[in-house]
Amino acid sequence: MRAHPAGPRFGEILAPAGAPAAPADVEAMHALDPVVWPSTAVRSGGDALEQRAVTIAGIDVRDLAAEHGTPLYVLDEVDFRARAAAFRDAYADPDVPADVFYAGKAFLSTIVARWVQEEGLGLDVCTGGEILTAVRAGFPTARMAFHGNNKSVAELDLALEHGIGRYVVDSFEEIVRLAAAAEARGVVAKVLVRVTVGVEAHTHEFIATAHEDQKFGLSLSGGQAEEAVRRILKLPSLRLVGLHSHIGSQIFDTAGFEVSAHRLVALAGKVRDEHGIEVAELDLGGGMGIAYGSDDDPMTPKEMAELLRGIVVRECRALGLDVPRIAVEPGRAIVGPSMVTVYEVGTVKQVDLGNGHVRQYVSVDGGMSDNIRTALYDAEYTVRLVSRVSEAAPVLARVVGKHCESGDIVVRDCWLPGDLAPGDLLGVAATGAYCRAMASNYNHVPRPPVVSVRDGVSRVVVRRETPDDLLALDAGLESD
Ligand SMILES: *Cc1c(COP(=O)(O)O)cnc(C)c1O
Repeated sequence: MRAHPAGPRFGEILAPAGAPAAPADVEAMHALDPVVWPSTAVRSGGDALEQRAVTIAGIDVRDLAAEHGTPLYVLDEVDFRARAAAFRDAYADPDVPADVFYAGKAFLSTIVARWVQEEGLGLDVCTGGEILTAVRAGFPTARMAFHGNNKSVAELDLALEHGIGRYVVDSFEEIVRLAAAAEARGVVAKVLVRVTVGVEAHTHEFIATAHEDQKFGLSLSGGQAEEAVRRILKLPSLRLVGLHSHIGSQIFDTAGFEVSAHRLVALAGKVRDEHGIEVAELDLGGGMGIAYGSDDDPMTPKEMAELLRGIVVRECRALGLDVPRIAVEPGRAIVGPSMVTVYEVGTVKQVDLGNGHVRQYVSVDGGMSDNIRTALYDAEYTVRLVSRVSEAAPVLARVVGKHCESGDIVVRDCWLPGDLAPGDLLGVAATGAYCRAMASNYNHVPRPPVVSVRDGVSRVVVRRETPDDLLALDAGLESD
């Protein structure tokens, strides 16, 4: 039997089905794959093990934890801006003009809205709260698009008040409500019709059907999208500017976009034939995938942009349509890889699984309240010991939170050093999208702060909630 470099015990442990393969050696257990980690995350030099903590933007995570506490979301500003700029540049083709809207629902704050603005992107919002955040940031509202399947009259009015540039209408009721609200203000709202194109895409697979059983959009096959166009064209306070579809999330190839573009362009052809107008904008939505683990191999924005442009141009040529302005709406692909969650280890428990297998349960000071995605979607994350390196052999571990739920799992299966101990810091990579944005106060846990880092300086983006924040909503025992 060949001795494994990390030691015999490590060599004997079999990964359970679905678990990632054991790291090849101790170095691999500590490696920060640049596909997964923010661009400025590295291990600092030095011979002593404790000198090889992770730094992000030149700041030791131990110092970040000491200053801001844990759990802590660390946002790499350089990484975020580079990803936003990569999308902007990928879609900057003079022959086929396009817009990139950052999907604010992935993570939004005033500082992030400002970065989005400075990098030249537009912004998608889907509630009054997101609108108010962008407005407080001074984001140019003409470069914003308002989404959602049940925008309230108050939200529509708020959007009109602030001059939001685009309304992606999602129902017949919304058409009536928006038209009335716009008319009352004496303005004309620019609308896109959210079309349910019957494509559901996820990672390497997509399903294309005629019908789609979901809450978003107006169906193509049922004729609702065409009917929406008819109704919009009759209303003087609405102006039809485009068609929109959003087919899924964490998408790695363009096959699903190809079917959806085909169906949207066919609808644009019908609109031309029936009404004699050319649809000016075609929004293909977001969903561009990122690497959560080293095996994931997402397309670059440039590769995807070239393919999407090619598809739209080809489909339009086939019908003799002018090529419309294209839009895409990445959320995860911009903010996802830019953030790392730093937790402190509180307890370490060995659980005998039978068959000679042992699983190390590592409890951290956060959990499903700051990252619901593992519990909700079975999401897989990459975790590393970030406060030091260890020569101890890797053991099969599960990183769990502190909540009163056995499903409170942050990382289901991973390999961590066998000597992990309370006080160690763990970093979970690629937590920028849909983690702080979906954070809750479950178990009355205050939500962690987001701290951005750049050139050795950290800055609070969203502060940590306090017990006072939590109690502020409690009406108390006094009735008067
Ligand atoms: C969620 C959503 C996006 C962003 O999705 P990502 O997977 O974060 O890129 C874009 N557009 C619409 C309409 C969405 O609902």
